Amino acid sequence: MRVVVTGGAGFLGSHLCDRLLDRGDEVVAVDNLVTGSMANLAHLDGSRGFSMLRHDVSQHIRVDGSVDAVLHFASPASPRDYLELPIQTLKVGSLGTHNCLGLAKDKGARFLLASTSEVYGDPQVHPQAEDYWGHVNPVGPRGVYDEAKRFAEALTMAYHRAHGIGVGIARIFNTYGPRMRPSDGRVVSNFAVQALTGRPLTVYGDGSQTRSFCYVDDEVTGLVALLASNLAGPVNIGNPEEHTVAELAELVIEMTGSQSAIIREPLPVDDPAQRRPDIALARSVLGWEPTVALADGLANTIGWFRRELGRAR
Ligand code: NAD
Ligand code: UDP
Repeated sequence: MRVVVTGGAGFLGSHLCDRLLDRGDEVVAVDNLVTGSMANLAHLDGSRGFSMLRHDVSQHIRVDGSVDAVLHFASPASPRDYLELPIQTLKVGSLGTHNCLGLAKDKGARFLLASTSEVYGDPQVHPQAEDYWGHVNPVGPRGVYDEAKRFAEALTMAYHRAHGIGVGIARIFNTYGPRMRPSDGRVVSNFAVQALTGRPLTVYGDGSQTRSFCYVDDEVTGLVALLASNLAGPVNIGNPEEHTVAELAELVIEMTGSQSAIIREPLPVDDPAQRRPDIALARSVLGWEPTVALADGLANTIGWFRRELGRAR
């Protein structure tokens, strides 16, 4: 296959590029580097079948030659990033998705959308299955991300229904692993870097809010299974093992052997109180479920941050 991966220089997108190239696909990564980095793709420089196009996908996208799949992963994804880039986030979810769907239509390609558990907002149903419509504050600060992704899902389904293009909507739940940006502000990167540098771990609120953390290798396996299927979705791709943020802080301190304290900081506005995917659909239709335990995934991730911080020093 020849696959276009938007957001290919980001955390998830770069792992996706690796997986596709490993199985023999050709990959065109398209990225404007707003939150991504060429360092995530440096190991692919000169690799057979790989090319990179530096481009903002909120502008018309031109890719020469045939394309079998368009994987739309471009978007600021960490709350810190999308709160700093609210308009770019809305544009890449709306105009960017429109351009990517147009490219898929033009090339007769399958289209995959990186949607998110944030479409469920601060959910009042637990765990979240795909038929739950969510509980989103459209005018709150997180609305720029949540509503961009909800619009992207609606547009994807409109192209599917009106133009008959093959689509797959993945609702991705909190994913972690090597190549997260140390300063992206997400909980795993923050806690790992804080613990490794002896700074206090910043638990927002009382730490009783929950998340369900999926290791990046598992996530990519689920996404590739969705790509290979005919499923339009939406389908949750995440790890159903749920932890409080306070538990995660304790675990990171234990695993790093850090002397860091744990401190409390204010809970961000509209921070979801609980989040856990129901993955019955992914299990039955894609035959997928995560296999990497949190302790193992965190060990790899902490090891990677340790090396990155050492390199930076
Ligand atoms: P990331 O910030 O590491 O990667 C996003 C990439 O998109 C970056 O390389 C960035 O430069 C690029 N980008 C952003 N706007 C662009 C634009 N207008 N044109 C071209 N490139 C642009 O984030 P990530 O965690 O790898 O997330 C990737 C995708 O997965 C996003 O769409 C995100 O919403 C989705 N997602 C991620 C998670 C997660 O836990 N990592 C959870 C749910 C959904
Ligand atoms: N969080 C935290 N301390 C941090 C960063 C995040 O307590 O330093 C909390 C945050 O309030 C949220 C959870 O961890 O409840 C996950 O946050 P993240 O930014 O990773 O992703 P989200 O799931 O909110 O998009």
